[in-house]
Amino acid sequence: MRVIRASAMGVCFGVRDALKITEIIEHPVQVTVYGELVHNPLVQNRMQQRGFKQSGERERRKAIPDTAAVLITAHGISQRRKAELLLAGKTLVDTTCPLVKKAHASAVRLRDQGYYLLVIGQPDHVEVQGITEDLYRFEVLPDAKAVKTYESDRLGIICQTTTPAALAKQVRAAVAQMNPHAEIKYIDTICQPTKDRQAAVEDLLDQVKTVVVVGGIHSNNTRQLAQRCRERGAVVHHIQSSEELNPRWFDGVDVVGLTAGTSTLPETIEAVYKTLGEMKSTAGAAERENSWHCYPHKIKRHERIDAA
Ligand code: SF4
Repeated sequence: MRVIRASAMGVCFGVRDALKITEIIEHPVQVTVYGELVHNPLVQNRMQQRGFKQSGERERRKAIPDTAAVLITAHGISQRRKAELLLAGKTLVDTTCPLVKKAHASAVRLRDQGYYLLVIGQPDHVEVQGITEDLYRFEVLPDAKAVKTYESDRLGIICQTTTPAALAKQVRAAVAQMNPHAEIKYIDTICQPTKDRQAAVEDLLDQVKTVVVVGGIHSNNTRQLAQRCRERGAVVHHIQSSEELNPRWFDGVDVVGLTAGTSTLPETIEAVYKTLGEMKSTAGAAERENSWHCYPHKIKRHERIDAA
């Protein structure tokens, strides 16, 4: 069995930069992270150990934290929410990814130009909430089935940054089909690291039928990677850490693909890669033992494989 790694995977620059900022904060106990910094339990545990407080995601995120400082995560927040925090006297440590800021700015520009906003993304995701809280009239479209005919004759479309490009294309086609009366303006706000990881997983799926996807269970881009693997007919194992790997999953598997979401740390990926390699050895040993007892003439062949 070989393990093939996707050519692009793991932590993106937005998450990496946000993590770097947290590392230089001298007094974490005075800082509340406004939601999950990244959807990665390992990172969250480390931050809690350092003393950071954390407000919940989504609805619970709306409460004003009681610490003097509030750290805005890479997913960003609305201008409205920012103003509320500043009004409450909070110091803001802003780690919003520049590509999320681009999505916010695109939405506001379309809004100001009089377009009715259609946001392709997950309605309950904090990034989408941050974008839509600054809009008055909008719809969030998780897929093409959600598309309707809209009254407005000017429709502006943007995407959650981690939207698969193929999904965005389907939704745009549905909007155009159901709204022939409307002028439609699309701004591509899918981030480049997401595009790179999605392209890499397509290459990976040309080579493997089983894929291990590493990343938080609440991580949108990780779930999208896993979903794409399933759509292409692969057997998918979505895990958060190497401890979750089960050797039985790989019985009879010759080659396995490895990919990871943008909030997965390099050390987590390496641990999974190493563990997969060890499982490979165990499976090989079982096979060799079987060969010894039943097919002694095959031993030479297995020895050659071990040396490769
Ligand atoms: S996934 Fe994209 S938008 Fe989100 S933090 Fe990473 S680079 Fe930024």
